[in-house]
This record gives sequence, C-alpha cells and structure tokens, in this order.
Amino acid sequence: MLLDADIKAQLAQYLQMMEGDVLLKVSAGSDDVSRDMLALVDELATMSSRIKVEHAELDRTPSFSVNRIGEDTGVTFAGIPLGHEFTSLVLALLQVSGRAPKVDQRVIDQVKAIKGEYSFETYVSLSCHNCPDVVQALNLMSIQNQGISHTMIDGAAFKDEVESKQIMAVPTVLLNGEPFGSGRMSLEEILAKMGSGPEASELTDKEPYDVLVIGGGPAGSSAAIYAARKGIRTGIVAERFGGQVMDTLGIENFISVKHTEGPKLVASLEEHVKEYGVDIMNLQRAKRLEKKDMIELELENGAILKSKTVIISTGARWRNINVPGEAEFKNKGVAYCPHCDGPLFEGKDVAVIGGGNSGVEAAIDLAGIVKHVTVIEFNPELKADQVLQDRLYSLPNVTVVTNAQTSEITGTDKVNGITYIDRASGEEHHVELQGVFVQIGLVPNTEWLGDTIERTRFGEIVVDKLGATDLPGVFAAGDCTDSAYKQIIISMGSGATAALGAFDYLIRN
Ligand SMILES: Cc1cc2nc3c(=O)[nH]c(=O)nc-3n(C[C@H](O)[C@H](O)[C@H](O)COP(=O)(O)OP(=O)(O)OC[C@H]3O[C@@H](n4cnc5c(N)ncnc54)[C@H](O)[C@@H]3O)c2cc1C
Repeated sequence: MLLDADIKAQLAQYLQMMEGDVLLKVSAGSDDVSRDMLALVDELATMSSRIKVEHAELDRTPSFSVNRIGEDTGVTFAGIPLGHEFTSLVLALLQVSGRAPKVDQRVIDQVKAIKGEYSFETYVSLSCHNCPDVVQALNLMSIQNQGISHTMIDGAAFKDEVESKQIMAVPTVLLNGEPFGSGRMSLEEILAKMGSGPEASELTDKEPYDVLVIGGGPAGSSAAIYAARKGIRTGIVAERFGGQVMDTLGIENFISVKHTEGPKLVASLEEHVKEYGVDIMNLQRAKRLEKKDMIELELENGAILKSKTVIISTGARWRNINVPGEAEFKNKGVAYCPHCDGPLFEGKDVAVIGGGNSGVEAAIDLAGIVKHVTVIEFNPELKADQVLQDRLYSLPNVTVVTNAQTSEITGTDKVNGITYIDRASGEEHHVELQGVFVQIGLVPNTEWLGDTIERTRFGEIVVDKLGATDLPGVFAAGDCTDSAYKQIIISMGSGATAALGAFDYLIRN
C-alpha cells in the first residue's frame, strides 16, 4: 500500500467529488518505480468506480496520463506524483472528471483562446514546494485547451534525462523542447509569458487613484486594505502578488497563527484585498516615478498610472554574490532555494555561501541529501544562532570555512567547483563540487527609483514615523525601507502605518 491511512481517507473524500469518468493510461516497465506507480494507480481505481485504468505505450516509462473517456487531455505524470505533487494528481483527477477549477472565468477564457500547439514539460522534485503551482497551472491549461499538453517529470525517477538535459533547478519548464522558464510561476505569469496579458493602453486609461500601492507582498496588501477601508480609490501594481511569502515554506511567527505555509497566506491576503474592491494590477513592473500635478508611475509596458499618493512596498530579493560564474551557471549548478533544488544534488558535493541563519539552515538541510557540504563564510565567525551552529558542527559531512572570500564559481557547461581566497593568508583554494547555494541575504528592490527619493547606502528607502518619504505624497513600507527588522508582521504593520499616513496627507492637502 503506497498511501497511508490518513491520506487515503482524505483522498476518498476528494474522489467523491468527481463528476465524470476518467481513464488513466499507464505505461509501466519492470523497475521499482513502475511497480510503485502501478500500485498507486490500482489503489486509485479501487477507491472510485469513476477511475478506469488501461495499459499503454507513452513517451516515458514509468508514466501515466489522465484522460476523459474517448479524449486525451495531454496531462501526464512521469514518475509518481506523491509528496508535494499529490495535490496536483488530485486536482487533475477532479478537473478531468469535469469539476470546474477555482480560477476566474476571465483567466479560463484567456486559456481557451490560445491558438496553436504547445507541448510543456516540467521537471520537478517531490520535495519542491514551488513546483506544484507550475504543474497545476499547466495541467489546467492542458485540460482546458486541446492544443496544450503537459508532462510533469520527477527528476529522481528520470535521472539520466535530467543529467543529459542538464536540469539543475526545479521547477524547470520546457516548451516544445526549448527552455520556457524556471522557478515558481502562477497561471497568470505563464499566460503573460506566452504574450496573453492586458495592453498598456487599457492601464493608461484608468481613472487616477487616491492611493496607488506598488508591490503586492505583506506590506502592500496591508497598505491597500487599510487605504480601501477608508473608502478611497485604491490600486495595487505588483510584479508578482505575494512577494517573498510565495517562496516561504513554513511560517510559525505570524502571530495568532501557529503554523501556515507561504502560498496559503498569500491566498488569504489576496482574498482579503479583493474583499475591498482594490484594483489589482498583477504582473506589472514599475519602472519610473515622477511628481507632477499628481504622482505618475510608468510601468515596464509603457502604461502611465496617476495617483494623489503612492505607497512603495517593493520588498527585497536574494542578494547575488556577483563573482564570475554566478550568472553564467544559474540553474546549471548555482541555486538559491535549498528546499527546491537540494534533491537534484543527491549524492553530490555542494557549497553553501553564507554563514548566517539562512545559510546554516540550508547547509543542515542539504547535509541530509547530498554527499558533502562546504559552508563558506566571509567573516572570521559564523553569524547564525548558536543552536544552529551546534547542529551544523555535529554533522559528519559538513566542512566550515570561515574568513574566506569566494572569488569564482567554475565550470564548463555546468558548475564543477568553487574558488575562494583565505583572507588571513591570501592563499587561493579550489574545491571541486557540483552545486553552489548562495545564501547571503537580501537586497531591496528600489533601483528603479533612481534619485527621486532618499535611500540609504544599502538602497533602503528612508521613511519617517508616518511611513512618509522625502517626496511629498510618497510613502513606503516593508522590506524596501530602512526598518530595523524584515519580517512579515513588521511589513504588515508598516503597510498599515503608510496607508494611514497617506490618508492623513490626503485630508490635509
Ligand atoms: C525564504 C524566506 C523565508 C522567510 N520566512 C519568514 C518567516 O517565517 N516569518 C517572517 O515573518 N518573515 C519571513 N521572511 C521574510 C518576509 O517574507 C519578508 O519580510 C516580507 O515578505 C516582506 O514583505 P514586503 O511586502 O515588504 O516585501 P515582499 O514580500 O518582497 O514583496 C514585494 C512585492 O513588490 C513587488 N515588486 C518588486 N519590485 C517591483 C516593481 N518594480 N514593480 C512592481 N512590483 C514590484 C514584488 O513582486 C512583490 O509583490 C522570509 C523570507 C524569505 C525569502
């Protein structure tokens, strides 16, 4: 039995929601994964009379496709969709059976309107929390549009293929055999990447806002809710709604909620923001801000939005180490997300650059999967909490190098080593390895502001106690500001402050 009793009980409830019959076409061999996959498929068939099973020859073995009776949908799972992909399997069964997905009809219409043949393949690991979003979005597109097909491929079950295609980060998506994207992508992001989004003129024609929030993370969401609750016209422009929280696995310090997961918190944030009729312009990147009669915001696509006040909450992103080889080997051995990409380095040697909390946590996590981890820290001592350091030093397959400056990530077509300089002796050292995880903190997303607003030497926007910047009518909140600490609850608090500050400004001006 592949499924434990709890999962089976949950699954039984979901399968009752199936609305029509589903045919699983199964391509199996005599290997262990094929045997487990057949056990899973048979178990599903015994749990619902709506699920039929047929043996078939598919492009990959082991794999199975999920089809309507008499009509292939193009949805295929190569490997066993358990772990984080279990939900993808359940949703595929429900949606192929005829159950409507929980997605805006406008987006479904957009998917249906796509013309042409699109064959997507997504390489995943079953421990990757960013992968299911991509798999589920592409499965949905495949179910809704006959011209689109999608195969999820578990890298662990197709090691030779992953090796030959040099897939070193998940999720990696190929479209018609060519690279399409990597990392978490929502359905809307995939559609935008395929060239199906709103025109610039549609956005420019919008009425001016009272408050325009730039950024859709915790700070921006909180600012928008506080502003809209004052009954004023509020909009949000976000490159990716949810911000860093979308990349966060477990959250245990969001006060009043003992444990939640990033994407779950983002879904509640979006629901809350929508409750107040905030105009959300997702997948739009701010490019330039200028104060005229009103404040004008130019977007990357050329649209100009106008507002009486603006709240900047563009957050932060992973800091790059900026050494030769980093950009060149990104997703070819250079990675930033140990939870996602760690399993692809099973049995290999890797380095973690950075000895703060995130670096040491990453090293502990990776040590359980890979052969050996070298931690490289610039300072003479690790900066991580003592409890994490104790755990790290107790691991047999970890080497810690302190007072070391990484000078190059080497490789040919993928990473084959790292070079660092011992800062005490000046000697150069080279370690042969296959993966490098960069964990050296974050950098604020504020470069696009140029000289319009005062920023610290780290690029953080300087704000006063009302969240106001030095440009009248422009406020800022969250990780993009000079706030002492960067946390979800702190960003939300500062978003609220900035919204109340902006409202106060509107009353007085
Ligand atoms: C891996 C990880 C784990 C974490 N775990 C925790 C935790 O457990 N608890 C906790 O409290 N905190 C945690 N944090 C920190 C927390 O996520 C941040 O402090 C918080 O998300 C900051 O919120 P923000 O709204 O200021 O910025 P962000 O979350 O960074 O959001 C910024 C928003 O601005 C948008 N944006 C950026 N540039 C532009 C542009 N030019 N135009 C338009 N939009 C733009 C982004 O797309 C995004 O929507 C974690 C962070 C990471 C990376």
